[in-house]
Amino acid sequence: MNPNAVSEEYLTLQKNIMEAQKQIKKNLEQELEFAIDKEELEKNIPVVPQLNSTPVPVKLYEDAVMKITQVLNESNEELSNDNKVLIETLTLEDLDEWINGAIKFDTEYFYQFSKDKEVSEWLPHFIAEQALRPFMQVIADACAPFIDEMEVMGSCPCCGEPSRIGKLKKDGQKILHCPRCESEWKQKRLQCVHCGNDKHENLFYINVEEEENTSIEVCKSCRNYLKLVKIDRQSRGKQAALLDLETIHLDFIAQDEGYGEEH
Ligand SMILES: [Zn+2]
Ligand SMILES: [Zn+2]
Repeated sequence: MNPNAVSEEYLTLQKNIMEAQKQIKKNLEQELEFAIDKEELEKNIPVVPQLNSTPVPVKLYEDAVMKITQVLNESNEELSNDNKVLIETLTLEDLDEWINGAIKFDTEYFYQFSKDKEVSEWLPHFIAEQALRPFMQVIADACAPFIDEMEVMGSCPCCGEPSRIGKLKKDGQKILHCPRCESEWKQKRLQCVHCGNDKHENLFYINVEEEENTSIEVCKSCRNYLKLVKIDRQSRGKQAALLDLETIHLDFIAQDEGYGEEH
């Protein structure tokens, strides 16, 4: 199974993981309390990297890792051997490193980890990231009252994930929505979210035939893009993680045309 390919199997797995994450988050809401003082925050840096103490207690993270692994096992028997190796050998020190590695998106660390354990290359980072998300989402809820006051360019003001999904309201307002922590924040309609260029002639849109509710906003200046979804009855209230998954074909189109960060 390759997580970069969007098969039915992968979609189902992702949906099952999102369901598990909801349960994990519910638990965390009872266990964790974040009092974040906005006065102590730098406005131009995402919140999570600024927190003084780790927002993820290792024991609770371990529970989350176990739950995500269980979903993987139920969805895909091929993985159960690798998962077994991981679960039986993961130490609290490893988990601590996983938390840091996942927060910093340290692909190099996870690659080395998979080599050392002789498991699928993508698996440790995938589990580590999916287990981290419910924690990020609880922090996002704590940040929601002041998230629009942050001024972080090109990435989520809560967790730092690069911006890639925007929602358009009927009145033309553009709301950015993070698939990692589910934060939502306002964005100027005619400004590139990545480089801040607000000359509207620098933005153009790629539409996909027969898709009225989605488009790709591209910036001529930085050659990066944002997926836009019109808010309607179907998409209202949908998680960003799901919207992101359902519009993954737009990423392929944009990247095929040579847009995006790696270009
Ligand atoms: Zn985020
Ligand atoms: Zn730009």
